[in-house]
Amino acid sequence: MTISDRVLIAGAGPVGLVAAANLVRHGVPVTVLEGGPDLSTESRASTFHPPTLDMLADLGVVEPLIAQGLIAPKFQYRNRRDGLIAQFDFGAIADETRHPFRLQCEQSKLTRIIHDRLRADPNFEIAFSSPVRAVTQDRDSVTVTVERDGSSETQRYRWLIGADGARSDVRRSLGIEFDGFTWPDRYLVVSTPFDFYSAIPNLDPVSYLADPVRWHFLLQIPKLWRVMFRIAAEESDELALSPEFAQTLMAQVVPGIDSYEIAHTTLYRVHQRVAGAFRRGRAFLIGDAAHVNNPLGGMGMNGGIHDAINLTARLIEVWRGTRPETELDRFDLQRRLVTKEHVERQSIQNKRNLEAADNEFRDLLRRTAADPALTHDYLLKVSMIGSLRRAEQLG
Ligand SMILES: Cc1cc2nc3c(=O)[nH]c(=O)nc-3n(C[C@H](O)[C@H](O)[C@H](O)COP(=O)(O)OP(=O)(O)OC[C@H]3O[C@@H](n4cnc5c(N)ncnc54)[C@H](O)[C@@H]3O)c2cc1C
Repeated sequence: MTISDRVLIAGAGPVGLVAAANLVRHGVPVTVLEGGPDLSTESRASTFHPPTLDMLADLGVVEPLIAQGLIAPKFQYRNRRDGLIAQFDFGAIADETRHPFRLQCEQSKLTRIIHDRLRADPNFEIAFSSPVRAVTQDRDSVTVTVERDGSSETQRYRWLIGADGARSDVRRSLGIEFDGFTWPDRYLVVSTPFDFYSAIPNLDPVSYLADPVRWHFLLQIPKLWRVMFRIAAEESDELALSPEFAQTLMAQVVPGIDSYEIAHTTLYRVHQRVAGAFRRGRAFLIGDAAHVNNPLGGMGMNGGIHDAINLTARLIEVWRGTRPETELDRFDLQRRLVTKEHVERQSIQNKRNLEAADNEFRDLLRRTAADPALTHDYLLKVSMIGSLRRAEQLG
């Protein structure tokens, strides 16, 4: 069987398609095999952080994304007793990024934009309903088993990028462990067209409400607000998904408003896991295939896009023969470490902060918001610029 020089990407989620876009932009031919029959339209990530927007600008896709999204220059923290605790404006890091704001936009819009951009490029090909089920490799190539129309076929490539999501077949087939834990509680996202600006004074498009029993956060996306609640382990899925329960939770958001138009609800379980390796020979893991975390801070997809850019920048050079293959080890070194040090640690801390019973977090936020230097550092951290700088330091 001949070995294809195209880079194979398993999975056409936001992370796989960003990897494809960067490779194609640099003249590296790509084949994407997507397990689903079309691009996913599932309601998932909706926050793009400033450095991610800078990367998407380099790929030429940020303008249409911004046109379909909502710019959120500020975010805030509240609690029930004190009301507004602290407000942060990304303008304070305008010297560090071309996009000093969060963009609220569904991830499915990004995948559609990239796909539409790439589809006419001869260096891009994509096949749907074609899951990669197994991977073997030798010194020169990776052989994948692809399921298609009820039968299996094998194909050989020089390089494979596994961007096939949290249940990654590529990761499993490579025998890479996915250590970590699953939270006992779950998250319920309730989407509503209700105008929260009319009901909550000084509200920002992203607003976290800290509470030891039932925290929530409000996040505005075009045409809707998403309200995310913690669902305790003892509350059944059936209860959590009932319309009455959603109304009961929503009634806690604005005193005096106890009936909402609900567009949809999503209940999901949350994990904190990092793959034992992001590279094994000629195969790589990026995005949810490599790491999963709770969505507090919006770092899952963003971190995955950072993986995709880090890896493909190196793979372009190796593919052209201008850098040795050892260059690719730096992807594993940098991205796995910052995933553990920043994304995992920070997302766990974000959850603990929101549900803390004492006032330590509140006081810390107030001190931070009152001091320009502390605000600057804090915004570098929450925007994920800090994690990218740390990766660079690792050499
Ligand atoms: C409710 C919710 C809210 C979230 N909010 C945010 C947020 O605001 N910001 C943020 O950064 N993150 C957020 N996340 C996390 C974010 O959605 C994920 O991190 C992101 O989708 C990861 O992208 P991915 O491309 O790695 O994986 P996926 O989006 O899961 O895409 C994987 C793709 O691979 C395909 N596939 C699966 N198996 C195979 C196979 N064997 N072969 C080929 N293809 C395969 C799938 O069909 C899919 O198209 C949120 C998640 C949830 C659930």
